[in-house]
Amino acid sequence: MYSKIWNRSAECISESAFFSLHNQKLQDQLKYVSERSVFYQKKFGRAGIEIEKLKGLEDLSLIPFTEKEELRESQLQAPPFGTHIACEPTDVKRIYSTSGTTGRPTYIGLTRRDVGLWKETASRVFWANGMRPDDRVPLVVSPFVVAASYADAFENIGTSIPVGVNVTDRLIDAFRFAGATALLCTASYPLHFAKALKERDIDPKTLGLRIIFAGGEPGASIPEVRRQVQELFNCRLMECSGNGDYGAMVWGECEHQNGMHFMGQGVIHPEIIDPDSGESLAIAPGLRGELVCTTIDRECIPLIRFRTRDHVEVTHTECECGRTGFGIRIIGRTDDLLIVRGVNVYPSAVRDVVAGFAPQTNGIIEIQLHKAPPEGWEPPVCLKVEVNDGVEPSKELKLNIEDRLRYSLIFRAEVELVPEGTLPRYEYKANLVRKHY
Ligand SMILES: [Zn+2]
Repeated sequence: MYSKIWNRSAECISESAFFSLHNQKLQDQLKYVSERSVFYQKKFGRAGIEIEKLKGLEDLSLIPFTEKEELRESQLQAPPFGTHIACEPTDVKRIYSTSGTTGRPTYIGLTRRDVGLWKETASRVFWANGMRPDDRVPLVVSPFVVAASYADAFENIGTSIPVGVNVTDRLIDAFRFAGATALLCTASYPLHFAKALKERDIDPKTLGLRIIFAGGEPGASIPEVRRQVQELFNCRLMECSGNGDYGAMVWGECEHQNGMHFMGQGVIHPEIIDPDSGESLAIAPGLRGELVCTTIDRECIPLIRFRTRDHVEVTHTECECGRTGFGIRIIGRTDDLLIVRGVNVYPSAVRDVVAGFAPQTNGIIEIQLHKAPPEGWEPPVCLKVEVNDGVEPSKELKLNIEDRLRYSLIFRAEVELVPEGTLPRYEYKANLVRKHY
């Protein structure tokens, strides 16, 4: 019998030990960035913050937030890592890209130590999700996410089987011929996968799939989605989550399936804030707010009070499993992220690709969802695109836009060209996705 918990001293840490560990590590991290990161030297300087005067966790809320947009700007100024890099470029051992909202990827570097810590937190998560040494997991993740860290964790616990993206037959073979037992994917993917299996006359129940690690979208915690998937495959669907910026995999459900425990003890410090006032809120069951993460042990790209734009609800602060990390479920994202066949698609990135066809297009688009996600995200997604006055809405233009979207965002859309002035205009923030259900 295996232990139920991957790293008991971290995951079951007492409240007081957690506080003193994070208090010390935060101070060390702040000192490190103020000595080594030009980005934070400037940021702290502008805010009039003297790091040596801060008393650790109790003063964390005095430090300004780090926004994704600032990181992007910083990378444009000093590519590829930006002025927020805090280690020697030769110490960067791995570079990930994440899809940016502008369609240009942002790059995240990791040192050898960073790689090890990401592997550790991901191992805690997948172990809590139920993975054990005899499990084999095919890797079918999008090119934008941190696949290598997942592979590290799978190999730390059991076995990984790389199969690539959009290779359904190879994925099915991994189950039929290589003894795969688990699958990491977005919550909407299993329904699509079941359809592909049925088209090939394969009963999903015969696949030997034991656990689905479902991350990347709120769907997994919707009881109806979970029930449907678990029944179809006769497996357990477990939620997990993380982010390419602050940590590949940091949140995971235990066997009680009651929201994802925080599992980044000693590596990441989480806060939940009121997204409007920016005030840091006391963690308690039922609390809703935006997740903010601070790295407390990162060498290459430390992030202080990074706004994740994930809106979460605290599900619990105590659990029968013995883990002390509070639980959350993700209730949404501020920027209306779409997840199409496991690939994150930001509507603003779609708009930017379309805008590249100017002067034929004017940059006004609307993504129309005719069913609730995850079903509504099934490609091709309906995309209305305005053409400029006097431009013929030709079939050629439509196909060119569809091709460009598929090539640059791995996003399959059914484009409909409409005359200028057809779509609604918004004064404040463009509402690029409209629900038609
Ligand atoms: Zn638990």
